[in-house]
Parts: sequence; structure tokens; C-alpha cells
Amino acid sequence: MDTPVVNSLEAFFMGFTANRAFKADPKLFARAKGMFYYTPDGREVLDATSGLWCVNAGHGREKIIEAIRAQAGALDYAPTFNLGHPLIFELASRLRGVLPADLDHTFFCNSGSEAVDSALKIALAYQRAIGQGTRTRFIGRERGYHGVGFGGISVGGMVANRRTFGAQLPGVDHLRHTHGSFPAFTRGLGETGAELADDLERLVGLHGAETIAAVIVEPVAGSTGVLPPPKGYLERLREIATRHGILLIFDEVITGFGRLGAATAAERFDVTPDLMCLAKGITNASVPMGAVACHAKVYEGIMSGAPAGIELFHGYTYSGHPLAAAAGLATLDVYREEGLFGRAASLEGYFEDAIHSLKDAKNVIDTRNFGLMGAVELAPREGAPGARAAEVFRRCFDSGLLTRYTGDTIAMSPPLIVETTDIDVMVTKLAAAIAAVD
Ligand code: PLP
Repeated sequence: MDTPVVNSLEAFFMGFTANRAFKADPKLFARAKGMFYYTPDGREVLDATSGLWCVNAGHGREKIIEAIRAQAGALDYAPTFNLGHPLIFELASRLRGVLPADLDHTFFCNSGSEAVDSALKIALAYQRAIGQGTRTRFIGRERGYHGVGFGGISVGGMVANRRTFGAQLPGVDHLRHTHGSFPAFTRGLGETGAELADDLERLVGLHGAETIAAVIVEPVAGSTGVLPPPKGYLERLREIATRHGILLIFDEVITGFGRLGAATAAERFDVTPDLMCLAKGITNASVPMGAVACHAKVYEGIMSGAPAGIELFHGYTYSGHPLAAAAGLATLDVYREEGLFGRAASLEGYFEDAIHSLKDAKNVIDTRNFGLMGAVELAPREGAPGARAAEVFRRCFDSGLLTRYTGDTIAMSPPLIVETTDIDVMVTKLAAAIAAVD
């Protein structure tokens, strides 16, 4: 049955959205190009958030569009269960030149959430394959965001995402978050707080290393408000995890593909995890794709430890979808040809100055930055947390600037093609919005 109906905003049940408020005052985009979105009535909105931290090369990139178009005409879909198509092997091979040297086998999926749940399952499969089947526990971190799968919300630390649903994976524990371990208004990484990594040691003492499969963190927490780590923290976590046979998973869904001025946070911090979750920038968000890059030891452990036949009973209908593979290859070309990771690195200082120029603005209680991730945190209104930032967001939007807010933190993460003049506009508009809100 396909009967004619009225096109209504009501029909779409929107996630992570105040549906009733949105439908009373909808904000729609009709097209996008470069640094800008355009509304259906033709208004220009400067994209200071790369969509949702994902359009790292800017919008409407011809090379990527052309690759998707050509692939759709040549091979629309092919399964990757005991079958395949050349482009996805090419993409996995190309990633070897982008990711840290030992992360040389990549599993594909369709989103960051799937990447996280896949990484958790691969960690369990590995531990079992090497005879460590008692290691079934995961350690996450408070204020972490790892997507919305049951695995992701269990290891995650965003309270509302967990509390609403109740059911979670058993046996999960959390490190404390690192926010507040160094002073507000710190530029880049904190000088103090590395010892918070010792929480992993404490949890090993509590639960026993032989029960812990993996620890997962975002190298720089994004969704809970851009929280750069203390200096030395990730190094220390790596050392403790290695010493106890615990796999270290970096969730680089946001930090991957240039956001921190290097291909990955692992490269920027010179800390190599055992598993790395990727998504978003892998295709410049043009076609959904997620991935888990696996250390050689993990891949080989599973290959040699599993019985003959299928080694990993996990995969998605759209794992390695041809359109995503084509988009991914073209995206890597764009990043390389335009040197966008290096460009992000070269703009970091300018962006940092711009973010911190807001430190004396009304109600601002912290400014934070690392790479091309920046945040301005506002004091919450008495009894109405989040309301002040929501109002600043709305004012920015009305003045032609797309920001993102979480709690009372306004985050900015522009496409890596951003110009210094765009950064000036972002800060001017954000400053005006902050000044206008009580
Ligand atoms: N992990 C991190 C660190 C993220 O920031 C996100 C999304 O923002 C996810 C996982 C989930 O990705 P997706 O929304 O593609 O499922």
C-alpha cells in the first residue's frame, strides 16, 4: 500500500532532538558547499561543526561525489560475507598508509556506534582465542561517548543516554573522567592529572586483570564538551593496559582523519592502541561508514586461535558497502592531495587564540581546545542546566553560524578547509550571541 499522504514534520521521530520544540520551529538545510550550509530559503550558515564532527574536507567535494556516482552505476551493492568486491580491499590497504603501522587489518561497518560494539566484540573474541576467556569485563570512562549501541552506552559515561534505558552490559566499570584535573582556561593539554590513568590499576586491583578484556577511551572526549587529556595520561593508560594484558581501544570516531592535526590521535600522541574505532571523516560523511582498525597481534590471534571456518561471527549486511568504499578512497585522496591534516595542524594556534579570546565573555567559565576542536563553557542557569547554551546556539544559528552544544558547553570543530577569516567570523558571531544572552 502506498497511498498519497501530506508531507508532515510529525512523521519523522527524531533522535537526540527535542521533537516538540523542533517541530514548532524547524531548522532545515537544503544544500551545502565548502564551509557553508544553505537553508531552504537560501540563507547561508557557516558550518563551525563539520556537520556533526564529520565533514572534515568541507561540503560538496566534487571528487567524492563523482566517485560515488560512478560506483553506483558500476556496482550498487555486493555482500562481503564469503564474497567481496575490489574497492573495499583497496580501501583497507590504503588505510594501512594512514593509520599507525601495526593497525593493519580493518573491519568495516556503518557508523561509529557499530564500530564501538564491533571493537568490544573483537576484543572478547581475541581474548578467548588466546586462551583468556575469563576476560569478559570492559572498562570505560565517565563522560565518555561511544555511540548508542548497548555496548557503547554501557562503556559510555553520558548519564542521560544510560539512565533512560536501564539495561546495559554486565561487568562494566568506569575510570574517572579527567575534566577538572587541570585549571580552567588551559590551552591544549593539561599539565596535571596524568595520575588519573592509575584508576585502571585500581580497577585491576578490584576486579582482577584476568576478568578485564579491554579499556576504551576517546583520546580527546568530544561529545561531552571537548575534554583534552592531561599530558602523559594516554601514555600511562597504555602502559598499565599492556602490563595487565588488557586491550586498549581508542574511540577515534571524532579524532580520526585530521581533527587533531594528524591522521589520528594515536599519531598525534604517539600512543598506539590495540583497536581503533573510526567513522565520520572516513568518507567525509558522504556515505555512512564505520571501521575498526585492528593491531596485527589481534588479527593474528583471532586467525590462529579460532577453529577452522569462520573466525569472527560478526558482520553487517552493509560492511564494506561499495558506495562507502568508493567515497572512502576518494576522501583519502582529497585529504592527501590538499594536505588537510597538516593544514589543521598549521591552523591550531590561530584557532586556539580565537577560542581563548572568549575567556572574559559574559558567563564563560572555561575555554578549551586541542587540534581543531574547541569549546566555550558557560555557567549553567540556576535550575535550568543547558538552557543558556541552547539560547546561545539559537542566536548563533539565526546569525548564520552553526555551533553545537552539550550541557552548557558550546563546541566548534570546523572543516579542515577553514580559513582564518572564517575563524574570525565564528568567534565574532559566537561572542555576540554570548553577550546577548543573560
Ligand atoms: N564514538 C564517538 C567518540 C562519537 O563521537 C560518536 C558520535 O558522535 C560515536 C562513537 C557514534 O557514532 P555514530 O553516531 O556514527 O553511531
